[in-house]
Amino acid sequence: MKGIITGGIVIFCSVMAGAQTNDTLMIRNIADEILKNSAAYENLRVLTKQIGPRLAGSAGMVKSESWGYELLKKTGADTVWMQECLVPYWVRGGKDEVIVQSGEIKKNLAVIALGNSTGSGAKGVTADIIEVASFDELEAKKDLVKGKIVFFNYHFKRSFVHTFRGYGDAVKYRGQGPSTASKYGAVGVMIRSISHGENNVPHTGSTRYDSNYAKIPAVAIGLQDADWLSAALKEKKMDATIKTYGYFKPDTTGHNIIAEWRGSTHPEEIITVGGHLDSWDNCEGAHDDGAGCVQTIEILRAFKAIGYKPKRTIRFVLFANEENGLRGGLKYAEAAKQKNEKHLFALESDAGGFTPRGFGFSASAEVLAKVKTWEPLLSLYGTAVYPGGGGADIGPLHRELGTPMAGLDPDSQRYFDYHHAANDVFEAVNRRELELGAVNMAALIYLVDQYGL
Ligand SMILES: [Zn+2]
Repeated sequence: MKGIITGGIVIFCSVMAGAQTNDTLMIRNIADEILKNSAAYENLRVLTKQIGPRLAGSAGMVKSESWGYELLKKTGADTVWMQECLVPYWVRGGKDEVIVQSGEIKKNLAVIALGNSTGSGAKGVTADIIEVASFDELEAKKDLVKGKIVFFNYHFKRSFVHTFRGYGDAVKYRGQGPSTASKYGAVGVMIRSISHGENNVPHTGSTRYDSNYAKIPAVAIGLQDADWLSAALKEKKMDATIKTYGYFKPDTTGHNIIAEWRGSTHPEEIITVGGHLDSWDNCEGAHDDGAGCVQTIEILRAFKAIGYKPKRTIRFVLFANEENGLRGGLKYAEAAKQKNEKHLFALESDAGGFTPRGFGFSASAEVLAKVKTWEPLLSLYGTAVYPGGGGADIGPLHRELGTPMAGLDPDSQRYFDYHHAANDVFEAVNRRELELGAVNMAALIYLVDQYGL
């Protein structure tokens, strides 16, 4: 096949028919604008380094909301508003600690309390440790659990190529581990961090207590220390002292930051693109989800810079409280339903600022078939289109209104090295990978805007 060259990209003639010629050139134009003049990386630097952690309720949340509001206004949306929602306000309350001991051995483990967990207080909880590899093993040993600290040493399955499947498989130990152990009388829980990384940085994330059982302290252990502990427990019995300080303050007011750009021919049809503005308190939240926020803003900047005029209304949304409540996503869908808005499509980037590989769609077969015809245009920039995906924040819109949704899938091999851990910082994000994500998102939004779904 013979190719032609536009803007440095080889395009084969089969792609060049009819409307696709214009689309090819338009997307090339968008990509050039982003790859040459993007503000995404600098915006991420400000969000992570000047604002930093921004868990719901915190001072960082408030600062990040003002930052997003001002930046979206400056970037040129028609209107920007803050959509109020009540958010939970969990605070870590102190430095989490676990000391394990047996005879002359005494070791401080690298730990972090699970988000939403109840602290032990300064006195701590001390008890013998019982290790289990799974819920099945816990069930088999349930008579031995009373008064003990349960160590869930469930390994992130390395055989999944798409690491989010490994996460989906393992994360139940974080979510349900504490209450499942408490049901049998455990006094504390330690879980192996939900990660396949090689370092010893512990990974936090939400846990959910079942109100039928006592709320017990719960921490995640760094992977190296989890391996050390497991090996040590094979030699001898050990006890642990867990000291954590987490508690909830009363719910407080948070906001989705929404920037709207009215469409010229179908203003009643709304396309939403977004990421979540909150992050865990132990990190800068660069990949999770500063990346998705600055990519979202970058699409608006690039469209404005090239003089694009959308046919449909595009909303650029920085969602509140994805991490430990999802109140932002729920509020957005609730308001859309109340106002009887017509939501055509929603796209989220919340899987890290890595090299884009594809868009996973939760949509009808007809919609997917239509989107599939755009794949030759997108694949020039690295993405494929396939079923299955979306985003936590746009999930309620999909469920409540039936809005087709998609999630940007970047390469996932490094995401769980950083996810909810102290090393999720600005320096962990590669500028070019971040920008390529924005390029692909912008291209998809452009195509949906042009042709509908
Ligand atoms: Zn996230």
